[in-house]
Amino acid sequence: MMLPYPWHKALWDKVARVEALPHGILIHGRQGIGKLHFARCLAALLLCSRQDKFRGACGSCSGCHFMMQGVHPDYVEICPDEEEDGKKMSRLIKVEQIRDLGEMLSLTAHQNGCRVVLIHPAESLNISAANSLLKTLEEPNPGTYLILVAHHPGRLLPTILSRCAQVEMELPDRQEALGWLELQGLSQAENWLERARGAPLLALKLSEGEDESVRQILLEGLSKPLELNVIDLTEKIMQVERGKIFSWVYFWVMDLLNLLAIGQVRCHSDRREVLASLAGRAGRVELARFAQQITESLRTAEHPLNAQLSLEEMLLDYRALFANHPVS
Ligand SMILES: [Zn+2]
Repeated sequence: MMLPYPWHKALWDKVARVEALPHGILIHGRQGIGKLHFARCLAALLLCSRQDKFRGACGSCSGCHFMMQGVHPDYVEICPDEEEDGKKMSRLIKVEQIRDLGEMLSLTAHQNGCRVVLIHPAESLNISAANSLLKTLEEPNPGTYLILVAHHPGRLLPTILSRCAQVEMELPDRQEALGWLELQGLSQAENWLERARGAPLLALKLSEGEDESVRQILLEGLSKPLELNVIDLTEKIMQVERGKIFSWVYFWVMDLLNLLAIGQVRCHSDRREVLASLAGRAGRVELARFAQQITESLRTAEHPLNAQLSLEEMLLDYRALFANHPVS
């Protein structure tokens, strides 16, 4: 069942309880606060056949089932077509995409008589696409809803703006956003929320991107054990949760063991060559013991002050695995 994010509650109550929703709805607000998700929840509500009773999508009628499987015949999402130009990513919604809509909207609705079109981000409509959309907004078929999502409504044609009911989504309350981020398992949620200027989904996205770049730095370091500057590397990676780093190292070592045992790499196929060059340089027993050590230290919770120390120790142990077997 599709539920809006917790910080949407007040807005959801306001919008979803409107007796007759207007045919054109524009949801706008900052990036990373869940506008698209909110719009999808609203679409699900409109397409649910038990919406009158519950004022929320019931999650169990056939319309809701189709929505959850992403195959609702009366629902269309339109966004910039990424594949159309081959390699080049298109950032615009083209007029053909809107014209195709006309055809779909001329057919009878399959389910509860409603049809919903969601367009995001609406500012990527090119001029002719926007003009073509206007016709649909001017003469809406009964039961047809157009939901537009925009980060920058000022970039939309005034004629489109004037035909839509505007729903402004504000930044969530800071404490509520922090609580939600912590529930997602994000450490240092405050820092990330700060960097995302208060937008929780953006904060989560930033943290994931950051983790990946730290993982690459770590793998670079592990690739050259004899040149490994333990203190330097620890400093670069310790912003990421210790548990994550340990498990990255664990999977790296498991790939070394996989190579030795079955000649295969399971987790780092993009670094197969360097792993193969390392595998023969450390003893299998020592590698297995090191992997065992990591799983044991993963089980013990540690005071954050000790995190740096335990990272340094782990990297020293890793380096030692290869130091005793120098390249001949
Ligand atoms: Zn339903």
